[in-house]
Amino acid sequence: MDVAIIGAGLSGLSAALSLERYGVKPTVFEKEASVGYKFFNTEAMFSILNRPSKDCIEYIEKEVKVKLEPIDMIDKLTIFSKNSKGSIEGEIGYSNIRGRTEKSYEKQLESKLSAKILFNSTEDYAYICKNFEKVILATGDGEYASRLGNFKSDLTCTIKGAIANGAFSTNTAYVWFDYDLIPKGYGWIIPYSDKEANLVIAYPDYPNNIKLDLDYMWKSFCDVVQRTLNQSLRIDEAFEITRYMMGVSVRPKIDDTYFVGNCFGALLPGLGFGQFASILTGAYAAYDICNIGKYEELVKPLYETYNHSLVLRRYLESLDNEKLDAAIRSLDNKFLDGIIDKVCNTNTSLDILKILTPLMRVATLKNK
Ligand SMILES: Cc1cc2nc3c(=O)[nH]c(=O)nc-3n(C[C@H](O)[C@H](O)[C@H](O)COP(=O)(O)OP(=O)(O)OC[C@H]3O[C@@H](n4cnc5c(N)ncnc54)[C@H](O)[C@@H]3O)c2cc1C
Repeated sequence: MDVAIIGAGLSGLSAALSLERYGVKPTVFEKEASVGYKFFNTEAMFSILNRPSKDCIEYIEKEVKVKLEPIDMIDKLTIFSKNSKGSIEGEIGYSNIRGRTEKSYEKQLESKLSAKILFNSTEDYAYICKNFEKVILATGDGEYASRLGNFKSDLTCTIKGAIANGAFSTNTAYVWFDYDLIPKGYGWIIPYSDKEANLVIAYPDYPNNIKLDLDYMWKSFCDVVQRTLNQSLRIDEAFEITRYMMGVSVRPKIDDTYFVGNCFGALLPGLGFGQFASILTGAYAAYDICNIGKYEELVKPLYETYNHSLVLRRYLESLDNEKLDAAIRSLDNKFLDGIIDKVCNTNTSLDILKILTPLMRVATLKNK
């Protein structure tokens, strides 16, 4: 069977590997000269946000038959707001590298693939459709899906990041929610060694935010981070992404075209996590092609997660700094601490996002 995959990112490579496992040799088209983002980035996969997985790496190994090598387990997440601080401890998830370095998740997947990737591809969807029986759209955004009238865009955001040189612990990540600093958005640090980390800010492109001065915001954020962590950081290799699309496909498959990864709606609007669902959707599309499962059925829980995450986004946006302070302070409340520890434990698949969705809906309405 002639199967084309457009895009050799996480979802496209996961699809390619899964097809090969069942004896189908795909043709993979990649527009760049290599797999991986042009910039170096440390990302995270949080098991607590990707239920039913108890441990997202083990879950991927079981579902996709690929063992990914993360950097480390993140067992502490410290969250700052304007005037308070709280932390979550437990087996929260894993950090990993993205980009063109050897250990990035894309490079790990590519190294297991037999099929040749056609780099620097300029072939478009219409051409590929005419020449292949099945097409997997894995381009990392909703553009093609939008053009086909199959994408509900919920927001776009602006992202700026860089490498920060300082002193870190690879199992501790940090997040900042301060809407004076980053309106309706957030900033974070995920370390990839004890000396280097990625420092990133992201905020939605709402009309009021379009007027913001990104460089000024970035500088202010870097100052706050250095003050809060009580260290001076050397900031290198900055990157910027504009209008990064967050949305979801209306249908996961139309005729013989499969929408996977961010084209499907893997990127969760709540906090911007998309790796887990990208890898799964790629594999699920392959399973459908190989008659092992039905794509529409396999992705049903991922649509649900997307919708819960959208509720989280709207809830976060309905808060102000005072409410953020109160919410973040409560994380260190003795009673909540015990519950959070249980939720983060790898022995549970408790879906906290799903449980909190009705409460967040009510709170969002109240906050308006
Ligand atoms: C700065 C940043 C930080 C992030 N942090 C996290 C995080 O901490 N945790 C998390 O889970 N997720 C995070 N994400 C989201 C996550 O990276 C994505 O959801 C995930 O990579 C999407 O996988 P994908 O396969 O859909 O796309 P990608 O992995 O982006 O791959 C798409 C590929 O398609 C190629 N392509 C595009 N168009 C064409 C075309 N026309 N023809 C051929 N090839 C094409 C691209 O060059 C690329 O190689 C982050 C994203 C960004 C940008």
